Formats: sequence, C-alpha cells, structure tokens
Amino acid sequence: MTRTDSNIIMQRADELAQFTSTPGALTRTYLSKQHKQAHQALSEWMVQAGLETWQDSVGNQWGRKVSANPTQPTLIIGSHSDTVVNAGKYDGNLGILLGISALQQLIDIEFPFHVDIVAFADEEGTRFDTTLIGSSATAGVFQPDWLEVEDKQGISMAEAMLEFGLDPKKAALDAREPSEVQAYLEVHIEQGPVLEAEDRAVGVVTGIAGAKRYQFSVKGMAGHAGTVPLEMRADAMCGMAQMTLAIEAFAKQNSLVATVGKCELPSGSVNVIPGVVNFTLDIRSLDQAKLDDYCEALLAQLDDIAEQRGLSLKSELFYEAESVPCAESLQQLWGSAVELSTKQAPLFLASGAGHDALAMAHLTEVGMLFVRCDKGISHNPREAVNVQDVEVALDCLKQMLLLLKERADG
Ligand SMILES: [Zn+2]
Repeated sequence: MTRTDSNIIMQRADELAQFTSTPGALTRTYLSKQHKQAHQALSEWMVQAGLETWQDSVGNQWGRKVSANPTQPTLIIGSHSDTVVNAGKYDGNLGILLGISALQQLIDIEFPFHVDIVAFADEEGTRFDTTLIGSSATAGVFQPDWLEVEDKQGISMAEAMLEFGLDPKKAALDAREPSEVQAYLEVHIEQGPVLEAEDRAVGVVTGIAGAKRYQFSVKGMAGHAGTVPLEMRADAMCGMAQMTLAIEAFAKQNSLVATVGKCELPSGSVNVIPGVVNFTLDIRSLDQAKLDDYCEALLAQLDDIAEQRGLSLKSELFYEAESVPCAESLQQLWGSAVELSTKQAPLFLASGAGHDALAMAHLTEVGMLFVRCDKGISHNPREAVNVQDVEVALDCLKQMLLLLKERADG
C-alpha cells in the first residue's frame, strides 16, 4: 500500500535535484536561488501533507502537524536540503522527503504533541567556511561571527541573507527552547557499506563518532640518493610510511577508524633522500574516552618510530569533535519500529560521518535511522538508494511516530 508513496519520494528526490547551480550535476548551496526553489517545492509538499509551514530566521523550511491539544513538547524530524559540489540526490534530502510522506500517511491521526519537520538549509558548509548553520540556529548554538564569513565571491553570510530576503540581525533569534522540544529524529543514508554487507535495508544509529585530526611533520636529513648508504640515512618518507602502517595496525587492533588522507614532500625530488614529509591523520570513535586514551598511545608509538630512525616528529591537533551518543530510549524505540516493520531484529551501527543531529544534540535528545545506499557511495552523483529500502524506511518512521504517540498517551 505504501509502494506508491516510496515511488513519490523517489520522484521528488529527482525533482529536487533539478534545483542546481551546475547544469548536468547537483550543487545546491546555502542562500542560493536553488535553495529558495527547493524549499518552495518542499513547502508545497508539506502543505499537501496537511502541515502548517514557515521559513525561519536563517532560511530553514518548517512544516508542522498541529496538535489540537498538545500535552507534550514538540517532536522534530529533519535533515538538510543543501548539498556538496557535484552531489548525490539522497544525502539529506531523503530524510526530509521521508518525514513529509510519513506525516502525509498519518494525516488523520491526532497526536498529543506537535510534530515539526524541518529542511535545514545548510549542513554541508559548501558555500561558507562553516557547517551545520541551519541546525545550529535551531539548537541555539549559532555563532553571530559566522555572519561575517565570506564565500569565494567575497559575499558575507549577512549580505547573502539580505539578498535572500532574511534579516541577518534576527539570525537565530528564533532558536528553539529545550523545554518545548522532546526529541530530534533524523533518517539519513548510511554513507558507508555496513548495511549493504549485512543485507539490511535500515539500521539504528547508536551515535555519531567523535573525531580528531592531526597534522604531522617528520624531519630527517636530505641527501644524495646515490651516495648516502641506506644505514646512514634519516629518510623522512620511510619514517612516514612506517608510521602510516603503524596507524593502520593500531586502528585495527583497537576497533577505531584512522586515515592518513594527505601527505606531501615539500621538496621531493627523484634523486634526493626526503628530508621533510608532512601528513595528516583523521581518527574517529564513538567512545570519546577511548579515543582520547588511544590517541595518546598512538602518538607515543609514532614518536618511538621517529626516534628509532633518527627523525624528529612534530604533531599538532587541529580539529576535534566530541562524539554524540543517540538517546538510549530512542534507540530502543527505533529498534522496535524496525522489528515491527521488517519482522527482523534490528541492526545497530555507529555513524562515522557528522549530521545535523550533532548540532541538535545541544537542544534535545537525538535518534537516527540509516538507510542502505548503493556500495556505501555518497557525496558523489553515483549515490543511489532503492525504492524497496525507501519503502521500509518510510514504514519504520511511521511506526516510530506511532510508538512515540503511544509512549505519550501512556
Ligand atoms: Zn547529509
């Protein structure tokens, strides 16, 4: 019976993908003409689902299933409508469309609380040098100095807001109060290969991993590639290679993820022993305490390698995000929703990627459901989901809303 609705969701995802600043590809950034067009379309679909709609102070699009007699704080469901450059159609957008369709299906059912659906206008941070602008405004963690940040054309966020029809002086003044919100739910594509490997349409998210990013510089001694014997060298590149493999082994051993994603030899040459190599490390875990301890241990290992090879190692922590666990009670309810819907015990998994729930966790409890995506590919035009999985996700979200209603009804 819901097959039609999942087909509508697929169609709407295609329609939204037409609102792009790059013909033939999908790029939709904050406060652009395409942002306005996409939110116009979303607003029309929200109205069709019986929702009351409005745009907030930073350009997020809202729809409310109004409760005649709200005895409980508001439930918020959402995701983001902006994209990276040359994006896929489902990252963010699928979660918004699922929310609208779920509320459409529940149009005749009276809830003891308002249910809000939100399309956050910026999560990716593609235009300005900051991410999660939309959800930060809602959650009360919007930083006023972001208004001065400029895009590549030199247009500040405040100027872009004025151009869009918003008053930057009022940005985020309509942040929600913790006491008037009961929870934030988000359905999102997994952006990883776990659900596919486990042959599952959906999975319950346990939390969003914390991350640390380091910049390393290994210094040795540059020298002639032909004349200096191997045992008399301090080769920075060989040191870096050994460190990278040590990082991989350490991560495997301790169930972390760690990536050396950038590496440069500033004065590399075919006939010179590398004197300096710079590289980065991105390391993540859901367990914040474990991440802190393991980073300390790993850095000590890298120092040992440097010392054994007569190299010096400088390290700098340049980015850090704390992990955000999903609320235990919401995980359990999502699990029940999945079980009701799929007749299968739910699969639980952590999110390695950041989401709007990171910002919303400052406001309220968060709960997330992941939907399988083809080969785990995202941030790529090849991003794909299948309609059967969308159907399962839609039913799970509907069951979840009914379970929350049941919980509230007591
Ligand atoms: Zn996303």
